[in-house]
Amino acid sequence: MNTLEDKHIQFLKPNSIFRTISSIAGQMNQEAYVIGGFVRDQILKRSTKDIDIVTLGSGIELAEKIAKELKTSSVKVFKNFGTAMIMVNDLEIQFVGARKESYRSDSRNPIVENGTIEEDQNRRDFTINALAISLNNSTYGDFTDPFGGLSDLNNQLLKTPLNPVITFTDDPLRMMRAIRFASQLNFQIEENTFKAICENIERIKIVAQERITEELNKIILSNHPSIGFKLLEKSGLLKIIFPEFQLLKGIDVIDGKGHKDNFYHTLQVLENLLPFSKNKLWLRWAALLHDIAKPSTKRFNKKQGWTFHGHEDKGARMVPTIFRNLKLPLDDKMKYVQKLVLLHLRPISLTNSSITDSALRRLLFDAGKDLDDLMSLCKSDITSKNKEKKIKYLKRFQTVKEKLIDVEKRDKIKNWQPPIDGKEIMTTFNLKPCKEVGVLKEMIKNAILDGEIKNNYKEAKAYMIIKSKELGIHE
Ligand code: ATP
Ligand code: MG
Repeated sequence: MNTLEDKHIQFLKPNSIFRTISSIAGQMNQEAYVIGGFVRDQILKRSTKDIDIVTLGSGIELAEKIAKELKTSSVKVFKNFGTAMIMVNDLEIQFVGARKESYRSDSRNPIVENGTIEEDQNRRDFTINALAISLNNSTYGDFTDPFGGLSDLNNQLLKTPLNPVITFTDDPLRMMRAIRFASQLNFQIEENTFKAICENIERIKIVAQERITEELNKIILSNHPSIGFKLLEKSGLLKIIFPEFQLLKGIDVIDGKGHKDNFYHTLQVLENLLPFSKNKLWLRWAALLHDIAKPSTKRFNKKQGWTFHGHEDKGARMVPTIFRNLKLPLDDKMKYVQKLVLLHLRPISLTNSSITDSALRRLLFDAGKDLDDLMSLCKSDITSKNKEKKIKYLKRFQTVKEKLIDVEKRDKIKNWQPPIDGKEIMTTFNLKPCKEVGVLKEMIKNAILDGEIKNNYKEAKAYMIIKSKELGIHE
């Protein structure tokens, strides 16, 4: 047992919730410890919303008694897991009996028995997640660190408490957690631990996709997502869990001409985007997927060298399959990602001569409320190492941005809807939903965006009548 320095245990001060837990556990004659992520994050001065209390006895009974003492009615009991949770001032406190675990080869769900505090620490994934602080009266605040977790915290190392091969074969999700912590904390994965990940990548297949994706999203939202993706790639996990992304890696050379490595380019784009995308998971996903169709649209010809024509369009069409495979939501979040992938070239592809009001209005209309995110993505996409090129693109980007602001001020297109909708077209011409309705609607919209007619009902209606005749539709 060690005693932690004062600065680390501020949270154990009198009147804290930990004193209450300590006193109730004492009355029950039941040992209790605060353990795991919360202890780690206190030492690292990171904020945490969940606290884990492990006790030698029933976690549920301890939680119920504490809730009674605190006069809070919200105890959530998970009988199957033998755990209970109470909420105190926005903090989620989990109570669980100390346990020992053993594993079968086909599942990451262990057979669980009651255990000692040491056995409970043995089953933890990393030494830095196995730190425990005593809440028992006689040893209150003492620190139990059987695996040198504190020194690993200082050295910024992720290491399993026991043999890493066993730790990862038992529960392969821990491989994803290792890489997630490396991305969140900017820690190194210790050599043998990383080697064991590389040797056990195939085991990830027994883990539910939802769990894998949860960790992947945490990597993406972390402060250093590119660390995570490089480790996923290096270990071999990436090609199993996200093969489309793996395909971005590598450079082909023909006639001495290569193209950029789109894996590293994409990670650079994501890094550039970080300051504009705190907590914006879907914007970060859009960055990850913006060039996803480059491998499948890649062509070489002698005149132009490497081209990736249509990769934005094909990329947008790949998004639903990727989202489905990764069990990401197939709702408006997916549509948002698709839209950004589809439009990611638009702002920068407007050349000086083609930055017309009509092109700008069209971009405003197509991007709508997501214009700012699109512009952040587009700016982040300027990664050229050639200084002159970079300056040229940034200048163009800035011009487009200013002109967009100007046009939007005049024409208010971002949240605009054409004055005539499909319903009106159908009633005017007594049509059922059909292709012509869409065509006519599109023609009216384009005429307004191109400045051919004014943005009002009267002109739109007159235009609709003229165009309906051309299309052979009659009132
Ligand atoms: P975060 O809360 O940021 O996701 P955490 O480390 O607190 O990180 P939790 O899922 O809250 O993770 O788990 C709390 C503790 O439970 C961990 O610190 C670790 O000791 C243990 N733990 C969680 N998942 C596993 C696992 N798959 N294998 C072993 N121990 C685990
Ligand atoms: Mg936690």
